[in-house]
Amino acid sequence: MINLEDYLDIVGDETISLIHKKARKLLDRHVLHINSTYQGGGVAEILSSLVPLMNDVGIDAGWRIFPGNPDFFSITKKFHNGLQGDSLDLTEMKKKLYVQANERFSVYTHIDHDCVIIHDPQPLPLINFFKKRQPWVWRCHLDLSSPNEKLWKFLKKFILRYDTVIVSNEKFKKGDLPLHQKVIYPAIDPLVPKNMEIPEETISKYMKKYNIPVDKPLLTQVSRFDKWKNPGGVIEIFELIRRKVDCRLVLCGSMAADDPEGMRIYEQACQKAKRYLRDKEIILITSENSLLVNALQRSSSVIIQASLREGFGLTVTEALFKEKPVVASDVGGIPVQVEDGKSGFLVDPLDYKGFAERIIYLLRNEKEAREMGQRGQKTVKEKFLMTRLLLDYLDLLAGIIG
Ligand code: UDP
Repeated sequence: MINLEDYLDIVGDETISLIHKKARKLLDRHVLHINSTYQGGGVAEILSSLVPLMNDVGIDAGWRIFPGNPDFFSITKKFHNGLQGDSLDLTEMKKKLYVQANERFSVYTHIDHDCVIIHDPQPLPLINFFKKRQPWVWRCHLDLSSPNEKLWKFLKKFILRYDTVIVSNEKFKKGDLPLHQKVIYPAIDPLVPKNMEIPEETISKYMKKYNIPVDKPLLTQVSRFDKWKNPGGVIEIFELIRRKVDCRLVLCGSMAADDPEGMRIYEQACQKAKRYLRDKEIILITSENSLLVNALQRSSSVIIQASLREGFGLTVTEALFKEKPVVASDVGGIPVQVEDGKSGFLVDPLDYKGFAERIIYLLRNEKEAREMGQRGQKTVKEKFLMTRLLLDYLDLLAGIIG
């Protein structure tokens, strides 16, 4: 089990001492996180490091999973898309199933904690089914800049019962919410298998195991097969690049348990990449394996993140931490991480030619690409490591239950 002192060499004495100092005021406070999956996607990634660390510093922190069935997750995926701006048919039936699933979970879920932190829309209505004896926080990881209006109006009825809303970017704060809103940037854990240093032999072992040739420069996007991550767009960008530079593209996207659309988007990507699959010019991977993601990011010349919407995009931070230049969409939380022209390039998400040009530039200018990666790692160490996220949560909790 990793504990706080293990981060000493990376973040230094002052940060560790500050965390202990702030945590002391919250000793034994009982905090509960609820989200809808243990695995797949950024939220599970964050909670699996944050919750043990909170416990390590003396908070009594728990994590429960909302157990939805396929119908529920199909509705909440539509809500997820709607919150990021998609249109949807918000029928009475969808609303009813959504709320009923929350009511059912509340019957056998006992909450006597000092603070409840609800992640994303799936467990949002839970608050309606408890006597509210403590502060409730809604932590939304999505891009809320232009939600579907009808859906927002429906969900707002639940949100208004909360004490605090946390979003990942200033742009996602809502003018029509008369409650405390706070920006907390997500973060990565430098010590977990996905991000830790690994020797060359391990990298080669994983590239061999997953049949990924390393004879040509690799371009990689690590992302769920999700329409907002735009895997089809990445394939089109690759087609533009390969006319000028010989390289390979890897699309690595495990399936999240709460995401019923993954298989369909994956099949569409396979269809689009069909003529490149035989010679492994494009490689599509659906396995969930942290060391594979680590090895892939470290083996790549450039990391792509061509999302159409992005709450934050942990994959960008993960790549920068490994000193890789990132060419990414100028949307959502990505510009907070990538400094255009310094640690990578920011491009309009629909400007595939712009993506291709910048990636080709980096492939042809290795020294500059390397320097950009180094600058990126410096930014991540300063702003986007788990210890900083823990400090932000300690401040938040001190403000509401300290
Ligand atoms: N991820 C992974 N394997 C995959 C695809 C994604 O482990 O095949 C991880 C990725 O490394 C990152 C998280 O899932 O830690 C995705 O977080 P991000 O914020 O980028 O996007 P989200 O899925 O939350 O929208």
